[in-house]
Order: sequence, then C-alpha cells, then structure tokens
Amino acid sequence: MDKETVEIVGDNHISTSVETPILKNAFEKSDDQKIERIQHLFGEIMKELGLDLNDDSLSGTPYRFAKMYVKELFYGLNPKNKPRLSVFENKYRYQKMLVEQNITIDSSCEHHFLPITGHAHIAYIPKNKVIGLSKINRLVDYYAHRPQVQERLSLQILRDLQHILETDDVIVMISAKHLCVSSRGIKDKDSFTTTLEYGGCFNQATKRNEFLKLIDHV
Ligand SMILES: [Zn+2]
Repeated sequence: MDKETVEIVGDNHISTSVETPILKNAFEKSDDQKIERIQHLFGEIMKELGLDLNDDSLSGTPYRFAKMYVKELFYGLNPKNKPRLSVFENKYRYQKMLVEQNITIDSSCEHHFLPITGHAHIAYIPKNKVIGLSKINRLVDYYAHRPQVQERLSLQILRDLQHILETDDVIVMISAKHLCVSSRGIKDKDSFTTTLEYGGCFNQATKRNEFLKLIDHV
C-alpha cells in the first residue's frame, strides 16, 4: 500500500483474512538473531528521532525494545509457542453452557502497534470433549500476543476451540480498549470495541441471550 492509500484508508481497521499474514520464512532465524537485528533497527529509529543513544538512560532501550517484541509482546506469532490444548472425554455428560469470563486481553493493534487491552468471555456447550479451563485462557493469551485486529483475534480463538472441542457450539466475546483510538487520532478515552463471534446453537438468539445474561451484558 502506498503512503497516499494508507492516508485514505486512515484508521479503518481492515483485516484481510482469518489467518495472520505471516511470511513463509518467518521463523528461519532464531529469536536471538531477530533480537539482534531489531535492536539495530530500532536504534536507527531512535537516532532518526534525534535521540542520543550514548545517554545512560537510553543506551539499553534498543535491546529492551527488541527483546520485548520478540519474547514478550509477539511470541504468539510463532506456532512453536502455541499451548498444547489437551481435551478430555466428557465423562459427566455435562451438556449445558460452560462460561469462562473476564479473561485478560493484552494485545497490540497491527495498524499502529499500540496496546489493545480488555477482556474476553467465552462459552461452549460440550459434546464429547471438554477442555481444562486454564487452557482457554492460554489460547486467548497466545493469539493476543501477535499484532492483531480485534475481529480476527475473536475468530482465531473461536475456530480453534470449535476444532479441538469438536463442536460448533462456541461463542467468543471480546470488549477492549484500543490505545490507537484513545491516545492518538480521535483521542476518545472512553470508547471501547466489542466483537461477538459464534457458531452452532449460538446462532439462536435465545442461546446468545443466555450467554449475554450470564456475563451481565444485557
Ligand atoms: Zn490501531
């Protein structure tokens, strides 16, 4: 996209597909090699901004920045960091709604690389499989730790859960604040964004409302 098109598109959050656009050779380099290269590149950005990297307070910043990107904020880009999501037979034949709510969202928007923070609320209705509850949190954490678009984040979580739980009866709601909306651009401090993705029985309004009522959103 050229500079002019980027300006016209502005802050409209366009996402091109459910898959995060990742290069084929994305993981040929080791994390340490990436950190070294990003450290150099970010140092150049700081210098271009006019900062003196010889200052004691700034000299370690390029390394801290690079390590934070590769190891902390964006470790969810690498499939090798995906949590193992063990599922179990649904031995108690529990067939009602199971809700995991207030799961912390710590993500970054892929258009501005600024934080997205909020909560995810997820429910499913078990068929033959159930999942350890903390595994849902781990899956959310994994997909959140890559440059994201909130709509795609919701879909990636939904699809994975539907796949491993072997049912379409899953619903994912995310409410989050985007720093790119609150601290720049329109600078709206109070607005937040809610996305709702679902399948199977949650296509019925009554099931959806049951979920929304449980998480206290109606
Ligand atoms: Zn943004």
